[in-house]
Amino acid sequence: MRFKPKPFTRPVPFKCLHCLDCCRGRHVYLTLKDIERIARKGHDPQDFVTFSVEGNQIRFVLTVREWDLGCVFHDLETGKCGIHDVNPIICRIYPFMVSRKPLGIEGEKPFEYKGKKLWLYYDEGCPGIKAEGSETVISPEEIAEFGLKFERELEGTDLEGLAELIERLEGDSHE
Ligand code: SF4
Ligand code: SF4
Repeated sequence: MRFKPKPFTRPVPFKCLHCLDCCRGRHVYLTLKDIERIARKGHDPQDFVTFSVEGNQIRFVLTVREWDLGCVFHDLETGKCGIHDVNPIICRIYPFMVSRKPLGIEGEKPFEYKGKKLWLYYDEGCPGIKAEGSETVISPEEIAEFGLKFERELEGTDLEGLAELIERLEGDSHE
């Protein structure tokens, strides 16, 4: 599904309806911490990490099934996320998004958080936003915090780090 950004400037009621539309056809970036958390639950990084070359950088993204572009952790039987308790930080941020630059959308304005200027959005296409019966209200502060955490983790995510992580995981499994 395509992200249809709307400015997120004040708290919004949200209730995930588990339609899992957001788990198909998406490019989900992984940080090394994401990879480690998922691997420690018994999943081999070879089965869920795909390399994506972007300019002169290599990023790690969640592997998708070829036939429907669904995430490999999307459970076809239950329709739910198979790693809900350790899913990647990007999945936790969605249906919200954090940007360092404005996207040029009507009504957007910068959100100052911990001395950083951020632009926050939500996906108008997610049926859980302002869904009937939403008991949870998501605040811009919560999402900004996740966004900064993602940025910090992504900074230290590279091939060398992945090689070290795999070595560490293998060492731990032989103990
Ligand atoms: S976050 Fe939105 S799009 Fe994703 S499963 Fe929940 S309701 Fe559906
Ligand atoms: S890890 Fe879970 S929430 Fe994230 S895209 Fe895959 S199935 Fe969806």
